[in-house]
Amino acid sequence: MHTKALYTGSFDPLTNGHMNIIERAACLYDTLTVGIISNPSKKAQYPIEERERMIKQALEHLDNVEVAHFSGLLADYVNSGDFDVVIRGLRATMDFEYEIQMAQMNARLFDERVETVFLMTDPKYSFLSSSMIKEVHSLGGDVKGLVPDAILARMDELAQNE
Ligand code: ADP
Repeated sequence: MHTKALYTGSFDPLTNGHMNIIERAACLYDTLTVGIISNPSKKAQYPIEERERMIKQALEHLDNVEVAHFSGLLADYVNSGDFDVVIRGLRATMDFEYEIQMAQMNARLFDERVETVFLMTDPKYSFLSSSMIKEVHSLGGDVKGLVPDAILARMDELAQNE
């Protein structure tokens, strides 16, 4: 059976914690789509087109991974895209509380065959979040090694143009 997986998030920006989940999921499933959630009511630091460009560049080395974005209900995107598995990453118990609620709601909304699968973070990245990266980077702190190099280069470039 050909298994199509989807990993969703805001990825504002994508961190090495996300990258670790993506590389591991890409080994587990035939194809993986990284689906960037476009949520107009949530103010993002990086516009959706910018995030998509940055992520595509950072994932060039992965043959079975593609990048897309979507808005609206996750279940509509999942069901219409014929995905079999939705991947989520878990860092700590605080992620678990939220993720179990989402997974249980989604189980009602997803087509019956679709499963949500959780991958535990690599302990190296258990403290890492996009919001932490944005905060440290905006104050001039060094985030090298915490986001993919291609993404950091673009973040530096955009910060210089501000
Ligand atoms: P969202 O807005 O959906 O929380 P994020 O971009 O923050 O989007 O995260 C997307 C997914 O990646 C979520 O499942 C989140 O728990 C997971 N994730 C975020 N940071 C890490 C990390 N450092 N290690 C593992 N998983 C992570």
